[in-house]
Amino acid sequence: MSFKDFQFHPTIDAGITACGYTTPTPIQKEAIPPILAGRDILGLAQTGTGKTAAFVLPLLERLLTGPRKKVRALIVAPTRELAEQIHENIGKMSQQTDLHSVVIYGGVGKGKQINTLRAGVEIVVACPGRLLDLLNEKALTLSTVEVLVLDEADHMFDKGFLPDIRRIIRLLPKNRQSLVFSATMPGEIRHLAEEILKNPVTVQINHTLPAPLISHGLFQVATEQKTSLLKNIINERQMTSTLVFTRTKHKAKSLALQLERSGFNAASIQGNLSQQKRQQALDGFRDGTYGILVATDIAARGIDVTGISHVINYDMPDTAETYTHRTGRTGRASRSGEALTFAGHEDSKMIALIERNLGKKMTRETTPVLAPQAEEERREERRETLPRQAPRAKKTGAAGQGKSRRDKACAFDFGTRKTYQR
Ligand code: AMP
Repeated sequence: MSFKDFQFHPTIDAGITACGYTTPTPIQKEAIPPILAGRDILGLAQTGTGKTAAFVLPLLERLLTGPRKKVRALIVAPTRELAEQIHENIGKMSQQTDLHSVVIYGGVGKGKQINTLRAGVEIVVACPGRLLDLLNEKALTLSTVEVLVLDEADHMFDKGFLPDIRRIIRLLPKNRQSLVFSATMPGEIRHLAEEILKNPVTVQINHTLPAPLISHGLFQVATEQKTSLLKNIINERQMTSTLVFTRTKHKAKSLALQLERSGFNAASIQGNLSQQKRQQALDGFRDGTYGILVATDIAARGIDVTGISHVINYDMPDTAETYTHRTGRTGRASRSGEALTFAGHEDSKMIALIERNLGKKMTRETTPVLAPQAEEERREERRETLPRQAPRAKKTGAAGQGKSRRDKACAFDFGTRKTYQR
């Protein structure tokens, strides 16, 4: 199948060519025809499947006919990065058309967004909070919206946006086309989808399975040796573009600094950064200024950088689903990639869950002999692993139960433990 089969308007075909797409991805094959036919869609697809183009292309086709300078499509996304990315995609795909979009999110001034709205746009891509602000200020109206898209609905729920989403939906015309995309389908999202969608077509693309072209490796390593291991494997392997995940914002920042001091081109992206700094780090990662980007899960949502060669779980993800989200950043749209995870003995249960989800075992990698750790790094690690202030113990005596359960976690078989050196 080729894009020609959808019989898009020539200006949209030109946009597809400008993006360099030749063959539709599975979600595009399945979702584009019903969206073109005006149907509501429930799309179960993870990032990296090509879902943005799956809804943007038929949306543009629809908007080519009809009035200009009225808000006719509203796309709601949970993060600034995702909103920015969708807006950029629309810009590329619509470059030969006379359609315009604006991106709306908080953390930056409102002036530019309001001016663009005043100049007239057909597509609004927005995060819920700032959109509600601008609606309150009457900077736009949603009464002319024909199509609603909710992207990454499960993340909207994670971030507590569902009440805002319901407020926004009440401002939309009842007679509209609605598309809801989500990587997972918790009960709350199912309810929301039932409220929003009319007789939807469900399109499901391996939503629980990680992208197929990723290889998954596992290193056993003690916490205080993780940084040495990271430096070692970055040097040893062909890592052109590496995304490293840490659990905390502090660790993301300090690890990027340590890597920089060791001569690597590294930056970090975490929630404490200003929008401008985040964008600088992302742009630098995209254009190759930084070969390594260290990120937390929240900050990494919506990062779309093609050609990420490696995803490294410096800290274990909290859930198997987070593992899928993280590793979905590499191997995007039919490219291959490598995911490497650093684990200690306490992580055996999570590894079992991840492997169940993957449907296969991760490759047990041989941990190299590591140089003794520098004193500065040791201090940093100690600071990181210091227990957080314990919550006040409840009278029930429940405090401490979690710890003892974790301590009992069974060890798992790495097969290569002999080569591991403290
Ligand atoms: P998405 O799932 O929308 O975040 O897309 C993931 C990546 O795949 C983006 O970098 C897109 O530009 C790219 N992509 C989308 N559709 C195609 C296609 N048909 N062929 C090649 N790459 C694509």
